[in-house]
Amino acid sequence: MEKQHHFTGQDPLKQLLFKNIQAILQENPFVQSILPAFEQIMEFAQVIIEQLEESGQSPLVSCQCGCSYCCHSQVKIIPIEALLIYTYVKRTFNDIEISDLKKRILFFSNLTRGKTFEQRFSMKQALPCIFLKSEQCCIYQARPSICRSWNSLAQSACITAYNSKNSQAEIESSPARDYVYGSARELFEMITRQQALQAQTLHMHQAIDDCFNNPDPLTQWSRGIDIFHIRPRM
Ligand code: SF4
Ligand code: SF4
Repeated sequence: MEKQHHFTGQDPLKQLLFKNIQAILQENPFVQSILPAFEQIMEFAQVIIEQLEESGQSPLVSCQCGCSYCCHSQVKIIPIEALLIYTYVKRTFNDIEISDLKKRILFFSNLTRGKTFEQRFSMKQALPCIFLKSEQCCIYQARPSICRSWNSLAQSACITAYNSKNSQAEIESSPARDYVYGSARELFEMITRQQALQAQTLHMHQAIDDCFNNPDPLTQWSRGIDIFHIRPRM
């Protein structure tokens, strides 16, 4: 029998999001509904953001297609996001694109293995995200919540940070995006834990590699099997 999910917090946004998630999860068995639930809630979060920005309650951001200074860092995701990205890749990439992606994962792994955060930061210009192609995200529709929430009010600040050796460079951003997408992600982490499934935060390139190395990652994960290998802390 599938486990019940519950949320007892007082945050009105999280209550609203949770109600919507629950409604989607009740439509089908968990394994069939969890990824559509994540996709639909991310779309719902985007509508909330657009309304806040159009009404002037949240500042407009400088982010636009083809701007990718922020896509040169190690992205951390939760298992649901890894499974959603993997499913999207399997559905939309051809054999050559999958082969290229596997090469980029290997390149990324070889270059970052055993490195400290500061060492990896200093290599950022040589380390584009595994999904960055021609300065565009090739999994845009399935990109993780951290990429949806990351934003800047001034592209010039991102360029300065990109060219800087300072890993703590400040970039002024819109808190609304962080709050809305972050709230959605927290709820999915909570639901995953309530379902007693693997829920740890993962490095994206490693998590996608783990999916490729499993014949049916979504089914196995949803049965409680630890399909993601937790590497030593870097
Ligand atoms: S966060 Fe900065 S680098 Fe990333 S898309 Fe926005 S403006 Fe461009
Ligand atoms: S997943 Fe897409 S948006 Fe996120 S860092 Fe990679 S290329 Fe950029």
